[in-house]
Amino acid sequence: MWWKCLERLFSTVGCHPTRCNEFEENGDPEAYLKSLSDLAADNKDKVVAIGEMGLDYDRLQFCPKDVQKKYFEMQLSLCSNLKLPMFLHCRNASEDFVRILRKHKDTLTAGVVHSFDGNPEEANSILQMGLYIGINGCSLKTEENLFSVTTIPSDRLMIETDCPWCEIRPTHASAKDIITNFPSVKKEKWQPDKMVKGRNEPCTIVQILEILARIRDEEEEYLCNQIYKNTMKVFFPHEL
Ligand SMILES: [Zn+2]
Repeated sequence: MWWKCLERLFSTVGCHPTRCNEFEENGDPEAYLKSLSDLAADNKDKVVAIGEMGLDYDRLQFCPKDVQKKYFEMQLSLCSNLKLPMFLHCRNASEDFVRILRKHKDTLTAGVVHSFDGNPEEANSILQMGLYIGINGCSLKTEENLFSVTTIPSDRLMIETDCPWCEIRPTHASAKDIITNFPSVKKEKWQPDKMVKGRNEPCTIVQILEILARIRDEEEEYLCNQIYKNTMKVFFPHEL
C-alpha cells in the first residue's frame, strides 16, 4: 500500500537562514519562535530535528547577516528545550557558524551539518564539536571537495540528496565515480519510472554512496551500514 511509505517519512521544524526575516515580519519574534516550538512539540512522532537552521552568507540578498545570526542562535534553544537534534546549514559562513555553536557548547544536542562543502579545517571544527557531516552532490563538485570528504571519519558521516536540488552534474569532479545511472525525461514527457531531467530525486542517494566508497576506498556495504547507524543514533536514538 502506497500510504505505508508515509510511516517512513519524517520531518524537521525550523527556519532556514535565508528566511529568518520571517521572525520579524509579523512584529513578534518570540511568537514566531513559539509557533515553531509548538509545531515540533505537537508532532513529536514525526518531527525528528530542529532545522534547517544556520547561516548562509552566499545568499545575503534574502536575509542580512545580523538577522541570520540572531535567529540561528534563538533556534538553538528549541533543541535543548525539546531535546531534539540540530539539522544545520552553513554556506560560506564557517567562522561565525562555529563561534555561535561553541558559545552554546554546554547545551548543544546532537546534530548534522548538511550539504557540507568546506575544507578539511572546517570539517575538523565541526567534528570537534561532536557533530556529524552530511554529504550530497553539492559537497562533491571539485577535487578539493573530494579531498575534504576523505578526511571525515566514517563514524561521523551522513549522506543525503537535498533533492530537488544538489544533483551530481556531469561537470562535477565526482561524476566519474557514479555506477548507477537513472534515465530521465523532460518534465513535459513525464513517465512513472523515469526521473525528470534537471530535478534531483531520492533514488540518487545511491550515487552519493558509490562516490564516497570510491574516493574513500571503503566497501559500499560497510559504509552504508555505518552511515545508517550514524543516522539512527542522531535522529532515532530510542530505536537503537
Ligand atoms: Zn541547506
